[in-house]
Amino acid sequence: MAPVRSKENFLVFGAPALGEEEIDEVLSTLRSGWIGTGPRVARFESDFARYRGAEHAVAVSSCTAALHLSMVVAQLGEGAEVITTPLTFCSTVNAIIHAKATPVLADVDPATMNLDVATVRAAITEKTRAIVPVHFAGRPCDMDGLRAIADEYDLLIIEDCAHAVEATWKGQSVGTLGDFGCFSFYATKNVTTGEGGMVLTRHEAFASRIKTLALHGMSKDAWKRFSDEGYRHYYVTEPGFKNNMTDLQAALGIHQLARVEANWMKRKAVWDYYQSALKDFPVTLPTEPGPAMRHAFHLFPMLIDTQEAGLTRDAFLDGITQENIGVGVHYLSIPEHPYYRDTYGWNPEDYPHAMSIGRRTVSLPLAANLTEADCADVVEATRRVLGG
Ligand SMILES: *Cc1c(COP(=O)(O)O)cnc(C)c1O
Repeated sequence: MAPVRSKENFLVFGAPALGEEEIDEVLSTLRSGWIGTGPRVARFESDFARYRGAEHAVAVSSCTAALHLSMVVAQLGEGAEVITTPLTFCSTVNAIIHAKATPVLADVDPATMNLDVATVRAAITEKTRAIVPVHFAGRPCDMDGLRAIADEYDLLIIEDCAHAVEATWKGQSVGTLGDFGCFSFYATKNVTTGEGGMVLTRHEAFASRIKTLALHGMSKDAWKRFSDEGYRHYYVTEPGFKNNMTDLQAALGIHQLARVEANWMKRKAVWDYYQSALKDFPVTLPTEPGPAMRHAFHLFPMLIDTQEAGLTRDAFLDGITQENIGVGVHYLSIPEHPYYRDTYGWNPEDYPHAMSIGRRTVSLPLAANLTEADCADVVEATRRVLGG
């Protein structure tokens, strides 16, 4: 039998939904001669702060940089333990390591796939300084539970919002509930600038220091230096990093953000379609959002019921790829990776829910530019591979 889609028509996982506005803005940016950090970055920051209802927004080069710089300004250095989830992208943990703090894992709740508050509590020691929750797949974490622990033990909360640009918890934007909110605009994310990130914080001093640290530790933005007010020296106030966003990236971000709600509606329709079309398949579908939250519908992580399906997750990945449907795995749990296992002595078995999800999960395509026919192909390919 011929595959559901032809090779030429391979359905790329996480393909960005870019419009003519983005293309025109990039061309205008090129024609303006200002392609570094400049007015478009400033506009993207203020648009984003307004969209999320945040006091301060600093655009940076990635979510990894956003997490790292947040931890640096929060002084989570040597001796500090930072609790996070084992069901995340490696960069959440790497940022903690780059800040010279010690990562500590809790486990996830099997239904929400988010940090299980009880396991966070159990992981606290006298060295614990912060919690880094990840709003997994776009579903907000239990921020009331985490806030209660953070208040009780005087911990900072640094939210990894890479999946959750549109998410809210009890009406408030995620990323503004903790001390820092870190966003990703990587190519596959709900809002993309190709590569890019943003930090939200309500602390003015933190925002200002992150801005400085993201550009070499220089006291003035480079684009202000060459303004028509005459030459101004910059002064290095500390050895910073090179984590600034450029106007070429912000040119995409401004128009991506203008379309963020329209794209959310499209992804919600895809989510709803999969939920009903796959309900009798040998899979565990992602838990529907609860009443206190707005889900960002970034990923559709379903679990293969391997016994019932008579097939492993990896066999499913091979099968659906042969049908020319691109899928993802979010994620093998962090302790499955040799570096962390060897360095921290972590075993996947010690975080059983994250391990089980990581070994059974498949993310189906969930993007704003999928057509109804694309979604039907995904379901048909899934049916063929699972033998339904
Ligand atoms: C994508 C992602 C990141 C990293 O984002 P970058 O912008 O690529 O640095 C961090 N955390 C999670 C959960 C992610 O999905």
